[in-house]
Amino acid sequence: MATALITGSARGIGAAIALRLAKDGYDIALNDISEAMFENNDIMDKIKAEGVQCEKFICDVSNYAQVEETVKAVKTRFGTIDVLVNNAGITRDGLLARMSEEQYDTVIAVNQKSVFNMSKFVGNVMMRQRSGRIINLASVAGLYGNPGQMNYSATKAAIVGMTKTVAKELGSRGVTCNAVAPGFIKTPMTDKLTDAQKEAMINQIAMKRYGEVEEIAGVVSFLASKDASYVTGQVIEISGGLMM
Ligand code: NAP
Repeated sequence: MATALITGSARGIGAAIALRLAKDGYDIALNDISEAMFENNDIMDKIKAEGVQCEKFICDVSNYAQVEETVKAVKTRFGTIDVLVNNAGITRDGLLARMSEEQYDTVIAVNQKSVFNMSKFVGNVMMRQRSGRIINLASVAGLYGNPGQMNYSATKAAIVGMTKTVAKELGSRGVTCNAVAPGFIKTPMTDKLTDAQKEAMINQIAMKRYGEVEEIAGVVSFLASKDASYVTGQVIEISGGLMM
């Protein structure tokens, strides 16, 4: 049985990806930063109902040592790690003039260093297996910029460069690395926006609606599938035509 590890997967896009990969037949290693994220939460039950194994691994993905231990634990529990989805991410928005150093550093650590940490340790497992799929969550903010998100857009632009670098370094070992760049997707992250901000965004989207988490999960499922075996180093925008 193949195994998929999805970071930040207690809720939102990560939970939808985990459920979709369970439907595709993967055993699932869930991750989130605290045990509390799994309380009053039926994601593990939903995944197990698909007839696959599911375990949660609590760890702060920005912490190098914790990630090393977690990857070891996932490998011990499941034997292989075939798909890594670097999904965990946060926002700490503010206009540049008012953004604090703490707001900047926290977002860089969680959104960007986490991708280094996870790709390094899971990449080593995949290189030894001579196969694997790494899929990173970028964002349209990293491709086009977004006012109030200098920290966030920096990390998402970095993820594009990291994706292409990992694709070049690990390609000869049978490991692909791609990114998806969502636009505005209905999750707790975007619920925080004001009604005025939401309306302004919808006006710029060709399809005149927000995306659903399942619409991200479907593309991730494709990138993890045999059909995407010759796709690497690519960034696929999933934004309903936000920018063209
Ligand atoms: P979300 O609902 O906030 O879920 C993110 C999950 O990651 C949360 O459960 C969060 O836990 C967890 N997490 C945060 N810091 C972590 C850490 N240090 N270690 C482990 N887990 C951590 O976000 P989402 O909207 O599903 O977004 C998922 C990914 O898609 C992110 O990378 C985001 O940047 C990207 N994205 C989202 C959108 C969108 O419209 N929603 C658009 C473009 C890109 P806590 O709640 O405890 O922090």
